[in-house]
Amino acid sequence: MDNIREIIAQCQEKNPCAVDVRFDEPMSGHTTFKVGGPADCWLQPREEGFPAFSAALLSSARAAGVSVFILGGGANIVVSDKGIRGIVLDTSAWKGSAAIKKGLSFRSGTSLDEAAESAACAGLSGLEFLAGMPGTIGGAVFMNARCYGREISDVLTSVEIIDYGVDGTPAQKRVAAGEGFDYKRSPFQGKEQLILSADFALNPADVNDIRQEMEENRHDRQTRGHYLFPCAGSAFKNNHDFGKPTGRIIDELGLRGLQSGGAQIAPFHGNIIINTGGATAADIRALMNEVSSKVKAATGFVPEPEILFVGE
Ligand SMILES: Cc1cc2nc3c(=O)[nH]c(=O)nc-3n(C[C@H](O)[C@H](O)[C@H](O)COP(=O)(O)OP(=O)(O)OC[C@H]3O[C@@H](n4cnc5c(N)ncnc54)[C@H](O)[C@@H]3O)c2cc1C
Repeated sequence: MDNIREIIAQCQEKNPCAVDVRFDEPMSGHTTFKVGGPADCWLQPREEGFPAFSAALLSSARAAGVSVFILGGGANIVVSDKGIRGIVLDTSAWKGSAAIKKGLSFRSGTSLDEAAESAACAGLSGLEFLAGMPGTIGGAVFMNARCYGREISDVLTSVEIIDYGVDGTPAQKRVAAGEGFDYKRSPFQGKEQLILSADFALNPADVNDIRQEMEENRHDRQTRGHYLFPCAGSAFKNNHDFGKPTGRIIDELGLRGLQSGGAQIAPFHGNIIINTGGATAADIRALMNEVSSKVKAATGFVPEPEILFVGE
């Protein structure tokens, strides 16, 4: 841990920024699934120094061979029971929005529901589909989050990033949205890039209409049981070539309610795995493996996990 303490101290000295730092921090407190062992170091930079501090941290950690995991709202991940080695850089305090030409720009740690609210307050339509979805703008851009027939890339115009995969010094740059987005895919996956902010093209509309759609979406999630238990949304991606949603295949196989330790296929939704209390990451993985093999045996199709497994 001493090398991590040294990295943080050096970065703070050169790039003043208030940072909350915790060692051996249980990740179960930072994920919507409420599972996950300790991170060697969890840190959350606050306030205006976020970009410079984060760039220095990513660069110094890389040079020292210490890995960094970038955390948004923890709404799409299962952290292993052994936790995460190295540093977890929590972006969720880097929040806020700004008006731009024909839309809004959001810092990556802004929650999705807050982003939808900000757009509604400004009388701008386009982000209603995000109302009630857990997570942050950074995580949603990374995942190309989608629902109600819309996805982030439909409204995204550009993204500001720190690219720390380049040799030597990390580069802060703006990239136009376009190529590289697909169903649950974004060009940021598999790269060493921290998303700092994202710009969205939005259209003026009647505030009451915007709010009504947002309320309908929140209500729909509530009635479908999204908030009843700790979970990470859909466990598996849909395979559109197969002709029906993965949740329906799981339903038809009668797998709702199937349990592994504290993890269970939600009795109310075939594609949501819930933590009924005391689930471990191993329970969730075992349950997903069991569902995969049953779906494969019955249909020949192997469902691809949507949830990301991270950590040791
Ligand atoms: C109840 C519930 C319902 C859900 N419904 C939906 C739904 O309808 N549609 C849908 O698409 N998803 C849904 N999800 C999943 C989740 O809400 C989205 O995937 C969300 O976009 C994840 O954002 P996050 O900030 O929590 O990302 P995290 O889980 O924190 O991270 C996900 C990935 O993004 C990376 N990442 C996060 N922030 C950054 C950043 N700033 N820069 C670079 N990389 C970053 C992480 O390293 C990680 O690899 C649901 C989840 C829950 C719990």
